[in-house]
Amino acid sequence: MSLGSGTADAGIQTPPPPERGDFIREIVAADVRDGRHETIVTRFPPEPNGYLHIGHAKSICLNFGVAREFGGRCHLRFDDTNPAKEEQEYIDSIQDDVRWLGFDWGEHLYFASDYFEQLYEWAVHLIRTGNAYVDDLSADEIREHRGTLTAPGRNSPWRDRSVEDSLDLFERMRAGEFPNGARVLRARVDMASPNINLRDPVLYRIVHATHPRTGDAWCVYPTYDFAHGQSDAIEGVTHSICTLEFEVHRPLYDWLIEHLPVPSRPRQYEFARLALTYTVLSKRVLLRLVNDGHVRGWDDPRMPTISGLRRRGFPAEGIRDFATMIGVAKSDSIVEVGQLEYAVRNVLNRTAPRRFAVLRPLKVVIENYPEGQLEEMDVVNNPEDPTAGSRKVPFTRELWIERDDFMEDPPAKFFRLAPGREVRLRSAYFVTCRDVVKDAAGEIVELRCTYDPATRGGDAPDGRRPKATLHWLSADHAVPAEVRLYDHLFTRPDPGADGDLFADLNPASETVLERCYVEPSLADAAAGETVQFERLGYFAADLDSQPGRPVFNRTLTLKDTWAKVQAKA
Ligand code: ATP
Ligand code: MG
Repeated sequence: MSLGSGTADAGIQTPPPPERGDFIREIVAADVRDGRHETIVTRFPPEPNGYLHIGHAKSICLNFGVAREFGGRCHLRFDDTNPAKEEQEYIDSIQDDVRWLGFDWGEHLYFASDYFEQLYEWAVHLIRTGNAYVDDLSADEIREHRGTLTAPGRNSPWRDRSVEDSLDLFERMRAGEFPNGARVLRARVDMASPNINLRDPVLYRIVHATHPRTGDAWCVYPTYDFAHGQSDAIEGVTHSICTLEFEVHRPLYDWLIEHLPVPSRPRQYEFARLALTYTVLSKRVLLRLVNDGHVRGWDDPRMPTISGLRRRGFPAEGIRDFATMIGVAKSDSIVEVGQLEYAVRNVLNRTAPRRFAVLRPLKVVIENYPEGQLEEMDVVNNPEDPTAGSRKVPFTRELWIERDDFMEDPPAKFFRLAPGREVRLRSAYFVTCRDVVKDAAGEIVELRCTYDPATRGGDAPDGRRPKATLHWLSADHAVPAEVRLYDHLFTRPDPGADGDLFADLNPASETVLERCYVEPSLADAAAGETVQFERLGYFAADLDSQPGRPVFNRTLTLKDTWAKVQAKA
């Protein structure tokens, strides 16, 4: 993206047309048209108290997208005002995730903690101008004085203490003289306001905790409301875009900007946060899933975190496409998780090379194929992409096929392999099942087949066409692999709607198959490598992969016609 120069005589550049018109982009376009800003400046302001999730991705795509489309810039600003919950690990992962999503903040990396001294001075300014006071009430008492939606609040007995007293106490709060919760600094706005956020909101609280960046330099920390707008103003943010729950905070945002000598006048706009079926997007819940061991970590492929989606094999492009597809609205709604999957499949269908893998192997011996013979079959890498070329896959007398691709006693609509039936092995030969070998327990352990040498490459000279085409692997060459199948983390579209969210966890969200096989070309698959296993779905090599022993995560299934037939039956 291009970063605006910000010099006074740079003039306004004509912006490229926005990628899509939503109400935020309309506001920004109108501001540019009316010459209200020289450069459009947005920001993405995560609190480093967890990993980013798909909801944050929506906000990132919006903030960075708007900046890019209008030739402005987007800042990455950590809203690190609550040391009790924040960690360097989160600061690092957030930067990795934003970059991986394809966005760049250039030199504009900021931390609210960089502004602590300035914010403190502004708090003092508010006290001096009679707009803030130190309150000795406890958190419970403050809550009790605040009133309700129908009842006005009551003044604190400390509301009218002198400016000198408040200045003295605030200084001593900073100096560490008082324990957590002993006192707070409050704005003096209006205890009778119909907007509860204006009933003398807390601006500073005492927190004796070590901050990941400022260490023990501070023991008073600004609240979100005090830090956020003022940080926007310091950075020259023009459009402070946040989610709808902050709409009721906007009057306070504006009040603070009006009552402080800030260097610019940002404005806040709100859009609907993302909610997805079968998914929970609360950092508190995600943290508990990790801490209680329900998942493998923040980057578990079932997690809706960006790092989880990445590990699962979702491409950044698919996530960005999803953000574009759902758009930006002013009222909350729930998006089908299938829409995200659709966007991801679209990208993978275009980009993922096809490979053979057998997840539940069944041995096939081709009786009339010479022992010790090896043929290299030419297999197309991606029918959707002619430039992807083809590769060689070894074919031998003993093969693995998918156990599900054989039925001894097939029902009417099962067209795959069965006794006496001929099927096509993709890009190889037609084979016919002649015999079924079972063990003492009656389990099928092997199929004896014959092949038609005239069908090499997958076509018969006489034009006959089997109803099914199966994938396969040479038993001599197949590489053992572990494959992890993933399903929704929760069993219902609205997890927790009946009370206990954790009771809705899907016990079958992960199925580990340890005895799978993949093509030799995947022996050393690098973590993140994404493929389509023919007929099975999209898969991505996991970071647990070892050379010669890859581990694959199922990103998504393909649409399976047989499953549909079964579901209808
Ligand atoms: P917390 O409860 O910890 O504040 P949060 O999800 O709001 O959680 P933040 O780090 O404050 O996390 O969020 C950073 C930005 O991402 C904010 O501007 C917030 O509005 C936005 N955001 C968070 N969740 C969503 C979501 N589900 N959809 C869209 N934007 C979101
Ligand atoms: Mg938040």
